Amino acid sequence: MPLAIMIMGPQGSGKGTQAELISKKLDLFHFDTGQYLRAILYDPASQKDKTIQRERKLNEEGILNTPSWILKIVVQAVKKMAALKKGVVFSGSPRTFYEAFGHEQGGKPQKSQEGLFAVLEKCYGKKNVSVVVLDIPLKESIKRISARLSCSVCGSPFIIQKYKLESCPFCGGKIIKRKDDNIKSIMERLSEYNNRTKPIFAELKKRKYKIFKIDGTPAPYKIHKTILNKVK
Ligand SMILES: [Zn+2]
Repeated sequence: MPLAIMIMGPQGSGKGTQAELISKKLDLFHFDTGQYLRAILYDPASQKDKTIQRERKLNEEGILNTPSWILKIVVQAVKKMAALKKGVVFSGSPRTFYEAFGHEQGGKPQKSQEGLFAVLEKCYGKKNVSVVVLDIPLKESIKRISARLSCSVCGSPFIIQKYKLESCPFCGGKIIKRKDDNIKSIMERLSEYNNRTKPIFAELKKRKYKIFKIDGTPAPYKIHKTILNKVK
């Protein structure tokens, strides 16, 4: 069976970049949860939907979206990808204990609600599931997110200091700052990561999943090599 890899880490740790590199190298789908959610939340056709309004507000404030809502969306996507017999690399999933295991921390596994890991295990086999955690200092995280721009059309990310671009070199689209990248929501997102995402790691170790903690500060191509060595 193909591989299922989760690249995890705080905002600005380079999850998206690493997931993109590994997806090309190993011919996997890249499932960018943040991008997938934004496409749903900002879809003009669903702006009257009460759930979408609620979830969009959370997203803009830097608060993690409702775990049961995301879990459903991500599981649907996983089943479609697995049916194509192709592996997947995630950037941005799971973000909460509930999404990972289908119940809150301290609770019991539910038959009626599988978490993302149970679904991946069924679709890909436990030995093919691995988690990579990119570790970077808080200061570095803030610096990187504050300097982040992206193309309004194709979503390509750019760093302010490195490139002075008028328009996207790939599609010619306008380059913008992401709507939810203001300092208040950045801090909120980093504290959400600490409080709600990090507890997943200890539980994964307990359940004997493959989990690798990697220094996220070297150049991206170096991190890529390290990840490749671990997951293969
Ligand atoms: Zn573009």
